[in-house]
Amino acid sequence: MKTIVAGEDKRAKVVEKDLRPLKSGEALLDMECCGVCHTDLHVKNQDFGDVSGVILGHEGIGKVIAVAEDVTSLKVGDRASVAWFFEGCGHCEYCTTGRETLCRSVRNAGYTADGGMAGKCIVSADYAVKVPEGLSSEAASSITCAGVTTYKAIKVSNVHPGEWIIISGLGGLGNLALQYAKNVFNLKVIAVDINDDQLAFAKEFGADMVVDPLKEDLGKVIQEKIGGAHGAVVTAVGKSAFNGAVDAVRAGARVVAVGLPVESMDLSIPRLVLDGIEVVGSLVGTRKDLEEAFQFGAEGKVVPQYHMRDMEDINTIFEEMEAGKIRGRMVLDLRNID
Ligand code: NAD
Ligand code: ZN
Ligand code: ZN
Repeated sequence: MKTIVAGEDKRAKVVEKDLRPLKSGEALLDMECCGVCHTDLHVKNQDFGDVSGVILGHEGIGKVIAVAEDVTSLKVGDRASVAWFFEGCGHCEYCTTGRETLCRSVRNAGYTADGGMAGKCIVSADYAVKVPEGLSSEAASSITCAGVTTYKAIKVSNVHPGEWIIISGLGGLGNLALQYAKNVFNLKVIAVDINDDQLAFAKEFGADMVVDPLKEDLGKVIQEKIGGAHGAVVTAVGKSAFNGAVDAVRAGARVVAVGLPVESMDLSIPRLVLDGIEVVGSLVGTRKDLEEAFQFGAEGKVVPQYHMRDMEDINTIFEEMEAGKIRGRMVLDLRNID
């Protein structure tokens, strides 16, 4: 079957791979599409180590065409996800306390397990989340990572209806964060990006305020205008965005780190202690979070913005992503790929 793998030379490669037989607990998906996340770019650039040879992709959606004999959670004909949280151990302290994405034996699609950028994909059936009726596979694909990650991060931010949240970085994740924040959590949104086109896009989707931190001092503007935001979700790929969010929130606020620049942020200890600021990381979402995030998509509260592309375009897409030229998500069309 045709796949996209991470290459040793830090480029993605379209290669043929053999499909192995199904094992106990597994299902085989005939892939329909797979979104391209900035994490795929980090993985192929070896930002988190060399995993060359692995099939990339963790925003995959496919149709079940076979299940192992013991599988009861999926049946042939269902549509299901290939997500970053590909499989946990099911019995550790994290798996049994609602924090399964932190499982120490976790397998991540497109990183430590073969992912969804392929004609077919073998999934662990109990961990592949079903796509509800009324949600297209293309839209579900963006929700499988970008959607669930930001939906969960907003939950973690603990910002309440009517309060202000900063969404920093309005790319693939950020534009869905904006929609979940506005249409599901009923928050007021300050959209922050260094790219004018992303800010215009954010305005179109209902941002209440937009700020370009290269043109204005984010902390100063937000403290002066509203006395600081009640929380922040940072999806931007640059440390200055994390520092900027800490400056722009009010006392007692939580800054949720989601973006993964390979850097350290600066934290003023007096700012943290005297103003009771919390900075927490948030990693994708649980299977339950994804089920909820899909449902809001099916209800039309969140409408992923995507463009369909061919598998062969993968390196061009990565170049466009690095250059900040992508609005919404690029989704690979995998229908009719063997
Ligand atoms: P993207 O490339 O689509 O969007 C990134 C956005 O950040 C762009 O709009 C860019 O203009 C903006 N940006 C860059 N520097 C900025 C700055 N200093 N201030 C404000 N905005 C800035 O990427 P994406 O797919 O949305 O992913 C974003 C990040 O989130 C990546 O690092 C990715 O690996 C990470 N991620 C994390 C999780 C998680 O579970 N925590 C899940 C998915 C992705
Ligand atoms: Zn992702
Ligand atoms: Zn576990």
